[in-house]
Amino acid sequence: MQLFGTSFAGELYNPSRLLEGRMDFELNDEERAFQSAVRKFGDTVLRPNEKRIDSGGKIPPEVLSGMAGLGLLAMPVPEEYGGIGASAVLTELAAEEVGRGDFSMATAVFFLLEAGWGAILARHGTEAAKKELLPTVCKGEAFLGIATTEPSGGSDLANLRTEARREGSEFVVRGEKAFVSGVEEAKALGGGHLTLARTSAGKGFNFLYVPTRSSGITTQKFENMGRMGISTGALAYEDVRVPERYLIGTEGRGFDCAMEGFSIARTFVSAACIGAAERALETGSAWIKERRAFGQPLAKFEAIQFELVDLYTQVEATKWQCRRAAWLIDRYGKDGTAQHRSEIDRTVASVKLVAPQVAFDTIRRVMMWFGAAGYTKEIGLELGFRGIMSYLVGAEGGLNIMRIILGRELLGKEYVPYK
Ligand SMILES: Cc1cc2nc3c(=O)[nH]c(=O)nc-3n(C[C@H](O)[C@H](O)[C@H](O)COP(=O)(O)OP(=O)(O)OC[C@H]3O[C@@H](n4cnc5c(N)ncnc54)[C@H](O)[C@@H]3O)c2cc1C
Repeated sequence: MQLFGTSFAGELYNPSRLLEGRMDFELNDEERAFQSAVRKFGDTVLRPNEKRIDSGGKIPPEVLSGMAGLGLLAMPVPEEYGGIGASAVLTELAAEEVGRGDFSMATAVFFLLEAGWGAILARHGTEAAKKELLPTVCKGEAFLGIATTEPSGGSDLANLRTEARREGSEFVVRGEKAFVSGVEEAKALGGGHLTLARTSAGKGFNFLYVPTRSSGITTQKFENMGRMGISTGALAYEDVRVPERYLIGTEGRGFDCAMEGFSIARTFVSAACIGAAERALETGSAWIKERRAFGQPLAKFEAIQFELVDLYTQVEATKWQCRRAAWLIDRYGKDGTAQHRSEIDRTVASVKLVAPQVAFDTIRRVMMWFGAAGYTKEIGLELGFRGIMSYLVGAEGGLNIMRIILGRELLGKEYVPYK
């Protein structure tokens, strides 16, 4: 019996639903207005400051307060905790603009850490922690980051060693984290990191907000090659006592919260890469129209024009995959089915796999259109080159880890050759 609509090859569908046209790529008026406000902020505040951010080793306070004024810090956090309650799609749009504005990626990293991990704290933190921490993060008066990587490795998180054991109403953290973004910022501004640690007796993982100024923490700063405006460092925890109100999610189930946060943060990382790639293409397009060789603009040589077209096509494809990741997170991130979860994992991993490579490749090729000038700091493409490299080597998960996630999703868990 046919209950409704039309049947084709045994599938029932309702023709009137087909006409609803639910797939909508158009931004609404508010989204467009917001996007252009953030682009203006990028053009007038971030761009003029990016070299200062790179050489001075920090994001100037007036840049952070400007971001806070626009609602850009931890923007998915609901209004009652100081944020603007932005959707993942709106945050993705903003991440593109921040990546386009500060080519060094430092501001984009600050932005996406607050957005991604602020969203997780707002979703899974205790009421007391949300009230205490989120308003200051949204104002740029405290830093919020993520600490999962350890000196022994960051890819194989299930084997991390840092321990958070319960003692009464506190957790006691012991261990070490490494290559963590924002260690110096959290010391200077105040704030801390959502920290993944195993429970005592190996009964899962606890995910805890650990303030960096806690007694028992010592830090170390690493000298990076890029994104100099935000620090990377190590944290050593010697029996650091953390109150239970700082527990994120359920005790022993912290791994799931961390993975949920990575899906969100990886989407915004990818968006920042797309913004940087678009800026490189714009810079390069203006240059090849102006620069002449053999009696005509470089843009008239098909070897260069076709390269521009190929790069544009890759950037556009990646951008729409990224928007789709954000859309999926909005629609199914909180209470989707296992099938939705799998779709989010696949989409996010594929965009995080591709976006940094596309951005890096775009910047590298545009650099070559500039010839020798491309190799100078004056042109500034090297800023993006150094910044994007962080996402290729591992920040927010290495490329091969994205491939492992995709392999597992495409073939099934039994084809991942280790736990
Ligand atoms: C600038 C920067 C900022 C960072 N910020 C943070 C932060 O804020 N918080 C945080 O916790 N971490 C941070 N990280 C660390 C990042 O998460 C790790 O670099 C990443 O998880 C990889 O871990 P690893 O560097 O220890 O490399 P490893 O895990 O040692 O892996 C080394 C290489 O081997 C590859 N690999 C690993 N396993 C496999 C496998 N099974 N098959 C094939 N290839 C494999 C990896 O992809 C990588 O290329 C940051 C890193 C950088 C570069």
